Amino acid sequence: MQGITVLGATGSIGLSTLDVIGRHPDRYEVFALTAHSRIDELAALCDRFNPRYAVVRCPDDIARLQARLTTRATEVLAGQDALEAVASHSDCDTVMAAIVGAAGLLPTLAAVRAGKRVLLANKEALVMAGALFMEAVRGHGATLLPIDSEHNAIFQCLPSGMAGLERGGVEKILLTASGGPFRTFTPAQLADVTPDQACKHPNWSMGRKISVDSATLMNKGLEFIEACWLFDARPDQIEILVHPQSIIHSLVQYVDGSTLAQLGNPDMRTPIAHALAWPERIAAGVPRLDLTRHALDFQAPDEARFPCLRLARQAMSAGGTAPAVLNAANEVAVAAFLEGEIPFTAIPGVIDRVLTQLPMSQAANLDTILDADRAAREAARASLPLCRK
Ligand code: NDP
Ligand code: MG
Repeated sequence: MQGITVLGATGSIGLSTLDVIGRHPDRYEVFALTAHSRIDELAALCDRFNPRYAVVRCPDDIARLQARLTTRATEVLAGQDALEAVASHSDCDTVMAAIVGAAGLLPTLAAVRAGKRVLLANKEALVMAGALFMEAVRGHGATLLPIDSEHNAIFQCLPSGMAGLERGGVEKILLTASGGPFRTFTPAQLADVTPDQACKHPNWSMGRKISVDSATLMNKGLEFIEACWLFDARPDQIEILVHPQSIIHSLVQYVDGSTLAQLGNPDMRTPIAHALAWPERIAAGVPRLDLTRHALDFQAPDEARFPCLRLARQAMSAGGTAPAVLNAANEVAVAAFLEGEIPFTAIPGVIDRVLTQLPMSQAANLDTILDADRAAREAARASLPLCRK
């Protein structure tokens, strides 16, 4: 029996994870569930899965959650230390890292440093702290399995998981992108899009932040950085390919001319089930792919209409704390767009401004990364009034 902690249990990935776990009660038991604002939803999940611990962000929510639980079997904790404690506890074998944004970094890192099997959905953690994160994976013997559908597909198409690319005869990784809901929009149309339109992805149902990232293509920029770290790939070994149907989740090209792809319906339960059971396979409740119903198209991304891709490449080549700055500025800009404070087309401008403004540190230890994250958030907030139009 594997004990599982789900960080971000009330989110889109958290709920899909619990759906898969619920199908296999003989293999998995829930050790801990964590949430931030959706306390009623967390209470319902605790009643269903009976975790040993439930963790909320704010101490004021402890009593609120306790009052909603019908069982006393679950102990309720709060705060950063509690998140890290349930991610690194000796009775937990596997951690699903599914908190959104920079808030996921420290608990995910705690799981890595405790040598856990870590299922990584929280790409922002790896973008912020890539070198340090991967060093901790190696140093503490953690098993890191990608949940992002593209990276999970690449993992499945690589010769032996995450071995060095050249040794396995790999020439290139083709990272697919749906192109988001505004793939065919003109610049004038992009200027008027609303948060609700941005959050309606044509193929995937996801949380609001990643939905906006998909619409700006920053999601692909973050995934490009994520792929560099996960697969120890050079930036020139990763090509981004727009594939509007999201049926092929990514491809790997070999020196002999072979190209391997992983296909499936766009349902996150497939990569989640893959990573949960790896190297075995388990059922995920996902309908089988019917290829007679899909035409598969491919095109190059348009970096002029979607400049976030270029910004992510720039941050990756600058190195050091630049990716953490990119990520923090993006989180602030996306939140401001969702609140109606800035237009959609102002998001890349905020990020560009902050990347240009802030001094980069090449020594990216945890303190300099967290400092860069804080400074970038402040600079991004200060630039919002300048980017309103
Ligand atoms: P959601 O917004 O749906 O869920 C986020 C989860 O994180 C919720 O459980 C939320 O709690 C919790 N949370 C939010 N802020 C904090 C905080 N400050 N401290 C602690 N917990 C917090 O996001 P998704 O599930 O869509 O995405 C989660 C991660 O997975 C992201 O990094 C995303 O990029 C990645 N991912 C998602 C995919 C998807 O299909 N959704 C695909 C690939 C990657 P609460 O709800 O209680 O407020
Ligand atoms: Mg993805």
